[in-house]
Amino acid sequence: MASESHDQLHFVLIPLMSPGHLLPMGDMAKVLAQHGLVVTIITTPLNAIRIKPMIDRAIDSGLSLHLVQFRLPLAECGLPEGCENMDAVPARNLFWNFFEAGSRLQHPIEELLETVEPHPSCIISDRHLPWTAEIARKFGIPRYLFDGTSCFTLLSNYNIETSKVLESVSGSEPFLVPGLPDEIEITLVQLPGHMNPASDDFREFYKKMKESEEGACGVVVNSFEDLEPEYVKEYRKVSRVWSIGPVSLSNDTELDKAQRGIKASVDENQCLKWLNSWPESSVVYVCLGSLSRVATLQLVELGLGLEASNQPFIWVVSRNKTEEWESWLLGDGFEDRIRARGLLIYGWAPQILILSHPAVGGFLTHCGWNSTLEGICAGIPMITWPMFAEQFYNEKLIVQVLKIGEKVGASVAVPLGKQERSVVTVRSGELKDAIEKVMVNEQGEERRQRAKRLAMMAKKATEEGGSSYFNIRLLIEDVISYKHP
Ligand code: UDP
Repeated sequence: MASESHDQLHFVLIPLMSPGHLLPMGDMAKVLAQHGLVVTIITTPLNAIRIKPMIDRAIDSGLSLHLVQFRLPLAECGLPEGCENMDAVPARNLFWNFFEAGSRLQHPIEELLETVEPHPSCIISDRHLPWTAEIARKFGIPRYLFDGTSCFTLLSNYNIETSKVLESVSGSEPFLVPGLPDEIEITLVQLPGHMNPASDDFREFYKKMKESEEGACGVVVNSFEDLEPEYVKEYRKVSRVWSIGPVSLSNDTELDKAQRGIKASVDENQCLKWLNSWPESSVVYVCLGSLSRVATLQLVELGLGLEASNQPFIWVVSRNKTEEWESWLLGDGFEDRIRARGLLIYGWAPQILILSHPAVGGFLTHCGWNSTLEGICAGIPMITWPMFAEQFYNEKLIVQVLKIGEKVGASVAVPLGKQERSVVTVRSGELKDAIEKVMVNEQGEERRQRAKRLAMMAKKATEEGGSSYFNIRLLIEDVISYKHP
């Protein structure tokens, strides 16, 4: 990628320590460095491991990238050893401790920024790290927010929050999100945490987050303009915004794709060999993200739905084989029955590598924003099963606006840390039907063509002259012209 040197400009990136926020920020660090910037990304040792191989390769290719690591005071904050990422937090009530531990990085980061060369020009920090606003203020530099989501979500949230619509709705009664370019209906129990009664315990935190956004210069969004043009246009009326994605496309070598995140729980070559044995667009890839902890009985329904669909599949079961799991699913002979056409991955899958294989023809996803974008970049239609956060918005974008997906019929968000105790909400029959509609139904072909077109548009956006490339130049200009108030 051509780049004009901005040696004097130094962007400091501070990600939230959760895979869905850390991985795109790692990618973003590389993309920004490709524009000739000095970029420092700050995290903790166990998180650094997840992005270091990619960063090291980028450094070897001549980019000015720095990965700085600080230790979290885990014991002091009542957290177990190794609990450096949201995917390792053992219980919902410990998320507070986790955010508290993160905020203790403020002083070490400030000490680093006092002496680092070149002097930092701006901070791009996750919206969930309100203490980073204070660092930007002290150093008199702009702070840009990163939220790991789309303009569709940002605009929906903004319009709901600034209208009185929630005053007159309750529970599972659908209401129209006001002021959107499309007619989007949602329910109270599907809304993201800060507006959802099931996440009342996080209200205070969200308030603090919101207050810290007052002085921010705008939002850097991992999306691209052609994906959601009307939503970018509308959101621009209320916030400064730079859509610079999809940043995951910067993983353009097999090694980058295979090594993204923690070490995969499956041998990549074995996985590719397995995929090579299936016809084009025949395999369903099933992954419910890095944080979802689905109840065993619900997993059983998923397993039975996959079995009934008769399609080959890769299923990322994001847990170890527990006794309960063994007795419910495996004891029933499931693994033997599906052995010929199902590959089960217990733990972490090389998702981007799998999605980019031509044999994959459908993605059963929890609609996390990264997974959504990764499915789009791979040009694959999706089977949507939203669970929490902004995932119900993402489902609406995929199914209703982009028309590249089919719902499994989930209707209520179950907050993080409450999922294991939840009841079965999606039945195997619903899963089977949704899979068949995407994989074998006649309308499936049109959907597939639409998905392919979007993938081409995504790639174009990130290339020189594309909208995301151009927006990075605009962001750089914004930093250069910043005047400390
Ligand atoms: N991911 C992966 N392998 C896995 C699970 C997740 O590579 O086994 C990656 C996935 O590619 C995505 C990120 O982890 O980039 C998950 O982010 P997303 O926003 O989709 O969902 P979250 O995990 O935050 O709910």
